[in-house]
Amino acid sequence: MNERRLRADLLRWYGRAKRDLPWRRNPTPYRVWVSEIMLQQTTVAAVTPKYLAFLRRFPTLASLASATEDAVLKQWAGLGYYSRARNLRRAAQAVVAEHSGRFPADFDAVLALPGIGRYTAGAILSIAFQKPYPLVDGNVIRVFTRLFCLKGRAKDPAFVKKMWPLAQRLVPAALPGDWNQALMELGATVCTPDSPSCGACPVAKHCVAFRKGLQDGLPLPEIRREPVPVHWSCLWIEKNGKVLLWRRSDKERLLKNLWGLPEAGRVEATPGRMLAMTWHSITHHALTVELREAALAGGAPPESKWVPRGAIRDYLVSSLWLKLLPSR
Ligand code: SF4
Repeated sequence: MNERRLRADLLRWYGRAKRDLPWRRNPTPYRVWVSEIMLQQTTVAAVTPKYLAFLRRFPTLASLASATEDAVLKQWAGLGYYSRARNLRRAAQAVVAEHSGRFPADFDAVLALPGIGRYTAGAILSIAFQKPYPLVDGNVIRVFTRLFCLKGRAKDPAFVKKMWPLAQRLVPAALPGDWNQALMELGATVCTPDSPSCGACPVAKHCVAFRKGLQDGLPLPEIRREPVPVHWSCLWIEKNGKVLLWRRSDKERLLKNLWGLPEAGRVEATPGRMLAMTWHSITHHALTVELREAALAGGAPPESKWVPRGAIRDYLVSSLWLKLLPSR
């Protein structure tokens, strides 16, 4: 394969066909960083309005660093994976404390920030600082497996590890950010998981899998992981217009450190009639959640709080609660 031509063809296409996404305008380190964290495990369509709202609320790294954790979590509501929001705030505080508020341009310094792994560091350094660091995500893996006809599973850690030297070899010194984004853009819009649009592909002439007619079978199918069923019985405890909320500890399996409705058995209360029921997925957990009316039998536990009924949505940031409490 002529890698020089591959780069030129893909970069030319990207310049012409890239989507106009808000984080691509004025790609400062802060804006790129926030977008990359939000886009992990979340679609562009879901992220776009949240990203714009987040930047309105926290327009600078300094404003994020000085915000309370609850304010950041509230702004993150609906995006899930809330440890991402906590780490974002902690990393902003670290940049203020350790780098005088200027986002570092050194790979090891970026990687040392909370919540930033090799992928995010590569994205920030290549897109915002124009440094030739590679990145590997699901889109890049899919494009590589097809372009180079590599037989592996996209979620197999040993296979993913092999993608990094390839990405490093290909990333150009000029326009590394455009190159990395072009690979991801190709995977998101043309070389899609099902039925890649090879007829419209700007690099089809370089693609080994296409030449061999193997593109639909690559990457190899994942070994399916069965969902883990989880059942919660939650309690609606209301008194004098206030509802008892419960802060889940960091020992909980799901929704750690977030406010929720108390689970039966965690507060002294007698469950009564069923008010609602819903189903919700968190990673590979399939939750069945029922809500029962209850009256407190003992005192409220220390990790709980009475909140006016009209204000509970300021605390219940997971979309699970919105499903369970549509009219409350
Ligand atoms: Fe993907 Fe098809 Fe392009 Fe190959 S030719 S990179 S399989 S879209």
